[in-house]
Amino acid sequence: MEHIVIIGNGISGVTAARHIRKLSDKKITIVSAETDYFFSRTALMYVYMGHMKFEHTQPYENWFWKKNNIDLKKGFVTRIKSETKEVLFDNNESLSYDKLIIATGSKPNKFGWPGQDLDGVMGMYHKQDLEKLEKYAPNNTECKRAVIVGGGLIGIELAEMLHSRNIPVTFLVREDSFWNGVLPAGESSMINRHIRNHHIDLRLGVNLKEILADDTGKVKSIVIQETGEVIDCDVVGLTAGVSPNINFLKDSGIDLGRGVKVNRFLETNIPDIFAIGDCAEQHEAIGNRRPIEAVWYTGRMMGETLAQTICGNRIEYKPGHWFNSAKFLDIEYQTYGWVFARPKEYEKQFHWIHNDDTKCVTVSYHKETNEFLGINTFGIRMRHEVFDQWLSEKKDVDYVIKHLIKANFDPEFYTKYEADILRAYQKSQLQNA
Ligand SMILES: Cc1cc2nc3c(=O)[nH]c(=O)nc-3n(C[C@H](O)[C@H](O)[C@H](O)COP(=O)(O)OP(=O)(O)OC[C@H]3O[C@@H](n4cnc5c(N)ncnc54)[C@H](O)[C@@H]3O)c2cc1C
Repeated sequence: MEHIVIIGNGISGVTAARHIRKLSDKKITIVSAETDYFFSRTALMYVYMGHMKFEHTQPYENWFWKKNNIDLKKGFVTRIKSETKEVLFDNNESLSYDKLIIATGSKPNKFGWPGQDLDGVMGMYHKQDLEKLEKYAPNNTECKRAVIVGGGLIGIELAEMLHSRNIPVTFLVREDSFWNGVLPAGESSMINRHIRNHHIDLRLGVNLKEILADDTGKVKSIVIQETGEVIDCDVVGLTAGVSPNINFLKDSGIDLGRGVKVNRFLETNIPDIFAIGDCAEQHEAIGNRRPIEAVWYTGRMMGETLAQTICGNRIEYKPGHWFNSAKFLDIEYQTYGWVFARPKEYEKQFHWIHNDDTKCVTVSYHKETNEFLGINTFGIRMRHEVFDQWLSEKKDVDYVIKHLIKANFDPEFYTKYEADILRAYQKSQLQNA
């Protein structure tokens, strides 16, 4: 019987395994060094915040895997020998495969900062990071201040986590406004204010120079590059982005860029070896997407697609319209289609912000055809399927704004925003005329 080995028990590897099982009775083994069972990485923060126990982040009961005849193996893969179709482990064990799926996810970036490996310094990616955080930042007596380095979605989550235990946070962000490589200026500056309103010490336009240790080898302070300022702290969170977790593939003969290079069928250059999820890199980006997409939904879609190919129905990965969601402290953020931080030459944006400074919407459209290109919403929850349909139908911006209420998750409660948005839009159109 054909043996499918999957390295990585995250959303991409597990989705591939589940769908291969639905479609076939192939032998499946999922390998992971991190945990025995699949858990939802996006829910890790809620464990630290006390909203759930770690067990509750596991979408499937422990018996699920045996019942579905999916073998789980805990172990760290150090090498792939494609000549003999073997996976080698750090304890010298090996496992043979007929088809191999690399789904090893990401690791937090470290840029060679002095002190980056001290005790009390951690990323916020793996379960082990959460354990370190529990050890070094259990409360505001043991941890008088934490410094977070890097202002993306994981950085803001870590800030929220520490804030929930009343631990003072200094947040170092290299850009001069929060996440302004992704968010248009109006949104980014609203989030700057929101972070500061939560008494988080947000420092914009600064870089980490080094992390200093006390005489036990534990972090005691950091130094800011630009000013030389020293900030005392007990914990440093490194959240300056992630990159594919692929160091162990260096001498494997597999074509690597920043990630594992794959074609549209998620195939690598070596027959019977595939890559999916955060660690996969498209040779050529799909539409406006990035060649590497480190997001949950992408891993799930890739896992589903590859299961078809593995089971004999070779299909291309076609992700459809871009969407994503996240949270900036208590503000929910959703994005559908494309709203660029710096509008493209063909793009126009309409921006609305509520008086309370916690809700805003940016709609992007084509300046000549008026075609709706995308929307970002903050603080108002919208419906994915409605925007997906409007993007496919290439609705024009007037239609979208007039019918925004159809996309609202809870129209009765939120009616007032749509009327306000429409008025602001009409006013902006008059000014543009
Ligand atoms: C705190 C946090 C919050 C997030 N929030 C969001 C969100 O709101 N929305 C969103 O879309 N995305 C979010 N993400 C990103 C999302 O979680 C990832 O895109 C997704 O988990 C990637 O899944 P994956 O299956 O590709 O890899 P992973 O989940 O990283 O799983 C890979 C597994 O492979 C294991 N592994 C790696 N190398 C080896 C090896 N050599 N041997 C054995 N095992 C190995 C790893 O230990 C890991 O268990 C968040 C990420 C984090 C860290």
